[in-house]
Amino acid sequence: MNTADRLREFFSNKRNIAILIHRNPDGDAIGSALAVQRFLNKWFDKYGKTANITVISPSLIAYFLEWLPGAENIIRYPETPDKARSVLKEADAIIYVDFNAPTRIDELSEDLIASTAPVVLIDHHRDPQVNPQISYWDPEAASAAQLAWKFINDFQEPDLIDREIAECIYTGIMTDTGSFRFSSVTPEVHRIVADLLEYGVNPDKVYSLIYHRFSLRRLQFFGHSITFRIRHLPEFKTTYMAIPLEDLQRFNIGPGETEGLVNYTLAIEGTRLGVLMIDRTRENKGNPMVRFSFRSKGNVHVDQFARQFFNGGGHHNAAGGTLYTTLEEAETYFLQKLSHLLPELTKED
Ligand code: 5GP
Ligand code: MN
Repeated sequence: MNTADRLREFFSNKRNIAILIHRNPDGDAIGSALAVQRFLNKWFDKYGKTANITVISPSLIAYFLEWLPGAENIIRYPETPDKARSVLKEADAIIYVDFNAPTRIDELSEDLIASTAPVVLIDHHRDPQVNPQISYWDPEAASAAQLAWKFINDFQEPDLIDREIAECIYTGIMTDTGSFRFSSVTPEVHRIVADLLEYGVNPDKVYSLIYHRFSLRRLQFFGHSITFRIRHLPEFKTTYMAIPLEDLQRFNIGPGETEGLVNYTLAIEGTRLGVLMIDRTRENKGNPMVRFSFRSKGNVHVDQFARQFFNGGGHHNAAGGTLYTTLEEAETYFLQKLSHLLPELTKED
């Protein structure tokens, strides 16, 4: 059976499809999920069938992603936990988008593990913890969105693809590639982007809707962090920032508003490892918690580092992790563990 037939056969008898994205969903997760949802809705419509296709997010949606076509209908677990649970319970197919481990959806994890519905995987993270019937998985892919685009195109229904779908996919690729500049960007990525522009995507509009959304206080928080919280360790080719709770409170910074701050660490010449650690006590019911973001250049593989020492993981050059300690303890621990990366940090690619 060819790919289009397999997809059609899989979906034709489904009536309740849950599309799931990871906690604190980014542009890639939300863009990919909304593109898949919109396409499947149009596909069911075209063949005169009805299906409930629902996107569920374990977290609230960052305000700069709310404009994405269809975002208003996303079920957000913190707002309507019972609804999220019941959609998941009734699902006869579950599509994992931009994640592959049930543990990345927090309180919904148990419900997901309990489900026996067949799984579709659209993801680019390593070490999948699911057993999908249909898999669009490629750890080399720059974004989940380009895999979602392949999934959509594999139905071979070009008349169902529209500007809104293209905008969602474009957003996913743009946000996961640092606006088309990471080493994961291939000629194929640019070919996809070229196709998306043919569908009417306006690059300037999308960029502005996502990135030109700072409030004055958020920009001042970035400035404050860069001025007072940055440490540069030239002998380790490392630059990091440690953000205390008092800064988050002083500038009234919400969970999604630290997005992008880590990138400034890599801007210092010679830096091969950039780290952002943030006191997340408020997100852990007042108990100590520090979230780490790791970014790196070349062969400095932060996913292994995050997995081994920080209860996390991710990609070679972008990973995250969590410690349940104070910020001071987290910083000390990080500085101790840094020596493990020294060979990679000091070896040129
Ligand atoms: P961020 O620093 O933006 O939170 O995360 C960077 C990358 O690492 C993202 O692609 C994300 O998927 C991955 N990541 C972040 N935190 C974790 C974690 O705790 N576990 C795993 N496996 N991956 C993570
Ligand atoms: Mn992604």
